[in-house]
Amino acid sequence: MDNEADTFYRELPKVELHAHLNGSVSFQTIEKLIRRKPQLNIEHSMTAIGKGQRRTLDECVKHHCKTNYKSKNNPVCFQVFKVIHQLVDSEEDIFMVATDVIKEFAADGVKYLELRSTPREETATGLTKRRYIETVIKAIQQCKKERVDIDVRFLVAIDRRNGSQVAMETVQLAEEFFLSSDGLVIGIDLSGDPTVGHGRDLLSALQRAKNSGLKLSLHLSEVPSQHDETDLLLDIPPDRIGHGTFLHPEMGGSQGLVDKVVQKNIPLELCLTSNVKGQTVQCYAEHHFKYWYHMGHPIVICTDDKGVFATDLSQEYKMVATTFGLSREAVWKLSQQAIDYIFAPVSVKEQLKQKWRNLQPQEFK
Ligand code: 5GP
Repeated sequence: MDNEADTFYRELPKVELHAHLNGSVSFQTIEKLIRRKPQLNIEHSMTAIGKGQRRTLDECVKHHCKTNYKSKNNPVCFQVFKVIHQLVDSEEDIFMVATDVIKEFAADGVKYLELRSTPREETATGLTKRRYIETVIKAIQQCKKERVDIDVRFLVAIDRRNGSQVAMETVQLAEEFFLSSDGLVIGIDLSGDPTVGHGRDLLSALQRAKNSGLKLSLHLSEVPSQHDETDLLLDIPPDRIGHGTFLHPEMGGSQGLVDKVVQKNIPLELCLTSNVKGQTVQCYAEHHFKYWYHMGHPIVICTDDKGVFATDLSQEYKMVATTFGLSREAVWKLSQQAIDYIFAPVSVKEQLKQKWRNLQPQEFK
């Protein structure tokens, strides 16, 4: 990014609410990790969706889009995460990755970030799930100490592949940190391969989290044919929805699901490049941003996995604006409205709103 338009998007203060820690690792940090673990023989091409692929997708303009596009069943190549997890398997790695990711988001103009990550245990390095969470918290505190200009919170992730018992244990661990982390751990994310397992098995863990005061962000209808699961989990209800690609009738969802989301006023976290590269959406112009934006429903532009998908939040905003013809004023409004959907308390929202007011260009006032 180097022209005047790019400067606008970079300097636009932004809120990032859907960022998986290990999917957000940059090329530079992967390089450091590969140097630390040469014996793994891992190459960059195994940890990110390459440029060639991106170029092909970028060339897709509206008239090239097929309507009635049916997605593939698996939205992200989940193998990529297995490779990254091999590179990030100790407290030292997690600390480095988390501090690098936070500083990169800050350098991209993100003023408030909710990071999410699945606590893992690794017998080879002695890593435990508790130490995993503590290390992410330590990284957040370190960035605060260094006065990095960003407010960071943490959502503990449940990987749906691991079933009901692990989900319940994860919620219990999150509850402990919710009470002891001085507001840093604020919620739960439900993610992982959406083609594996069923939300009904995770319902009691998620309900327990909600009752404890933890906020819930759930990946819902990320792939087609999840109607019943989505319908069930919407009744909890979640505080935000990740993706929601197949909620609306035009994408094989239903008006009933849309009505529930609208009635409960649940914001959607939209990650355009992730969906296009992950092939659940045919091209940018076909993204469900259009559907929800025109309805005036709460939406937040996010990156999902900025490392894996080789993007950043500035690029995502620029892509939305150029694809859907948003004025700069409309883009500013979109980034400002995201403050209302953060999980941190009202006092934090007020601070952020003040920050936005201070930075607001005169012509938008
Ligand atoms: P981590 O939790 O290890 O920090 O980040 C990687 C994990 O996030 C993946 O193993 C997967 O569980 C989850 N994840 C990342 N991107 C996506 C996505 O686009 N969809 C879903 N469902 N899960 C994802």
